[in-house]
Amino acid sequence: MTAILEVRELRKTYRKAKRPAVDHLSFTVDEGAIYAFVGPNGAGKTTTIRIIATLLRPDGGDVYVGGYRVATQQRDVRRLLGFIPDEFGLYDEMLVREYLEFFAGCYGVSTDKRVAMVDDLLELVGLANRRDDAVRTLSRGMRQRLGLARALIHDPALIVADEPAAGLDPRARVELREIFRALQEMGKTIFLSSHVLRELDDVATHVGIVEQGRLVASGTVDAIRTRLRPYRRMRVAFRGTADDAQAWLAGHPQVLGVEAAPASGRNGGPSTLLVTLQGGEETVVQLLADLVGMGFAVLSYTEEQDTLESLFLNLTQGVVT
Ligand code: ATP
Repeated sequence: MTAILEVRELRKTYRKAKRPAVDHLSFTVDEGAIYAFVGPNGAGKTTTIRIIATLLRPDGGDVYVGGYRVATQQRDVRRLLGFIPDEFGLYDEMLVREYLEFFAGCYGVSTDKRVAMVDDLLELVGLANRRDDAVRTLSRGMRQRLGLARALIHDPALIVADEPAAGLDPRARVELREIFRALQEMGKTIFLSSHVLRELDDVATHVGIVEQGRLVASGTVDAIRTRLRPYRRMRVAFRGTADDAQAWLAGHPQVLGVEAAPASGRNGGPSTLLVTLQGGEETVVQLLADLVGMGFAVLSYTEEQDTLESLFLNLTQGVVT
């Protein structure tokens, strides 16, 4: 995997601040990832994002976007990066298409290409039917999507969005997620911040958790889950009795416990075992393959999981925000 974004030992303390806003922060984001940058209010997310977007100078450390150094190669970085700030001025009286045509002009898109490009972008963000409406008539969710369209005008490889889901209703959030997924499928990398992990946990492929300017966890969603709660609980249903399967599972080195579910196997129905397992996704895949390989008649498998949000709250609890 190639890293498109590398943050190394980043430091920033605002003038007169008692503690650093960003404190030796390091992480990398691989190409094609949807990376959720999550932390409580005041954790340093906006500061980090503004540094990545070349808008704020760090006190120390380095950031590389596509191999270009943010401190010295701003022009190259800006070409690769589309930035959506948490609050942005929209030109309220402009029509939606005029707004995008204006920014396309700023990016040097020729007049004859502008109309088609704006139409494509409006289609992508689901605002085609609002193209001739004034920007001021858009809802918050629509404004977010218009901001996203603006950030996409120069076809950046990396999209950086500060709290894009904040203040959106559930439906608008789902729409935004769909767009991020579509962008990922187009080969883009997406870096999103939020102080509520729940807003992003079903769209993100990777999560970085930041607290008081420091990274407390970073990795794939699965790895974070494993790290924060290093065991899984699964329900496996078998045709007929499951005594042999239970005995086999009990002897498995990565199985911490196995018990029959209440009413399991009653009246000749399927038998269900509750299995507590140590390890990540790979272990689950292997265990299921082994069960089937051993000839046990596996009917179904489900996993009981904590949401990432509850794991995140456990991790950051007690922090004054
Ligand atoms: P939120 O989720 O509330 O937006 P955040 O994680 O984005 O928070 P930052 O906005 O980066 O956090 O703030 C990190 C710390 O730096 C906070 O303690 C904040 O008060 C402080 N800070 C941010 N901007 C400034 C500034 N311009 N001057 C002084 N201190 C600042």
